[in-house]
Amino acid sequence: MVNSIIWFRNDLRINDNAVINYCLKNKRKVLPVYIYDPSTSLGSASKWWLKRSLISLNNSLKGNLIVIEGEPSKMLLDLVNKNSIKEILWNERYSKYDRSQDNEIINIYKNKEVNCITFHSCLLKNPQKTLKKDATPFKVYTPFYKQQYQGIAYELFNYNTDEIDYIDCDDKKQILKILDMTLRTEKWQEKLQDEWSPGEAGAQEKLKVFLSNGLNGYSEGRNRPDKQHTSMLSPHIRFGEISIREVAKAVENKNTEDAEIFYKELVWREFSYHLLYHFPHLVDKNLQKKFDKFKWLDNKDHLESWQKGMTGYPIIDAGMRQLYQTGYMHNRVRMIVGSFLVKNLMLHWSHGQKWFWDTLVDADIASNSASWQWVAGTGADAAPYFRIFNPITQSKKFDPDGVYIKKYVHELKNIPNNIIHMPSDYDIETLKNYGLILGEDYPFPIVDLSITRNRALSAFKELSAEK
Ligand code: FAD
Repeated sequence: MVNSIIWFRNDLRINDNAVINYCLKNKRKVLPVYIYDPSTSLGSASKWWLKRSLISLNNSLKGNLIVIEGEPSKMLLDLVNKNSIKEILWNERYSKYDRSQDNEIINIYKNKEVNCITFHSCLLKNPQKTLKKDATPFKVYTPFYKQQYQGIAYELFNYNTDEIDYIDCDDKKQILKILDMTLRTEKWQEKLQDEWSPGEAGAQEKLKVFLSNGLNGYSEGRNRPDKQHTSMLSPHIRFGEISIREVAKAVENKNTEDAEIFYKELVWREFSYHLLYHFPHLVDKNLQKKFDKFKWLDNKDHLESWQKGMTGYPIIDAGMRQLYQTGYMHNRVRMIVGSFLVKNLMLHWSHGQKWFWDTLVDADIASNSASWQWVAGTGADAAPYFRIFNPITQSKKFDPDGVYIKKYVHELKNIPNNIIHMPSDYDIETLKNYGLILGEDYPFPIVDLSITRNRALSAFKELSAEK
């Protein structure tokens, strides 16, 4: 009997997992392990999620999960020696840091009697293999989708998780103690409890609800933050609590526009990973190099007003408060607050990327970095910099009755629909009638939209004129 380590990372599930499939088909005795690597600097909301997700995974694994903290190669070596391990198995991750860590571990065992075997269960396809016909990476989404993903039928693994055969190991009993020590929760994170159920069961429930309530009408409804049309699966997908192939398969044979558009969103995630894999500097450098010379501003007060949801633009403030209160923000609003930060405030996209990294429960290295570069116009196939969202127009179009705004900006709960999108356009007396004093109850706008729009366009023009 071969003893194998299952090294869990971004695949915190037991169903449709290539590593578990391998172990069951090859009758391995397994030691399931999660190693918390403090050098990976996970955001606060992600830590909150991870802790609960590991507890849930441990339950699925019948209390057999080992959770340890430390440098993965050292931790693995220790477990290998103590448990006569002959194989280390894991699903690949795709950032530069993760890949170099994986290679380092593979090298350690190169001439030893321990095999490192890797699989791909975090994405629909291995990004190494989704190249153009000329073997170069895609930089445009539509051909990427059409040539690599359109019309694919996915197969799921078929196995019985009750047959997993575990190695006995004393370290198992430590799990709660270690999780409490390494993944401490702050006061503000307690609110996340009301919104989410991390783990495989929570993910399955979200998929079920989406298929019966959200999918029908998704193509239009997904743009409406005041309605519940999107799946809310993103944190579950981020931590691999549900197989991305299972999500794709669930809409595979529906033959509706709604199902196709939803599947295309899953492929946007694949595209983000494709960019991360082939352009690892996506995380910290402009993909379009000309933006290296862009004259970003530096204004701490503006950044803080944006982070706190105190800009005086209700749709922006609702989005930023939704993020802080729930660890999530609707995609349409992510685009609006993103455009406001990088264009109206002219602050570097990395400020937004960092704040989202810390506060989103779905904070994902590929999707977050690619989306910020998309919003900023600095990325591949990005929204051009000169296309600047007007938050008031967006608000009127996608939250016409102010339902979303009122949910998160309580100061405006008595303001009628026609005024709510931009209260500062109305005179003091009108607002007073609705119990609102600007500057006291709710801020005046921190910038003028038209002046800042022109400022951004001039800066972009100047950049474009440079040789
Ligand atoms: P649904 O509409 O139900 O979509 C289903 C799934 O498809 C999502 O769960 C997600 O896995 C994927 N998906 C949908 N839209 C996108 C997209 N544009 N790019 C990549 N994947 C997508 N998504 C993250 O998962 N993590 C992030 O850190 C993240 N940061 C973002 C930052 C900015 C500035 C912007 C504009 C978008 C970001 N997104 C990120 C993408 C998107 O906003 C979320 O995936 C989506 O809002 C999640 O909600 P949902 O699960 O209900 O989505």
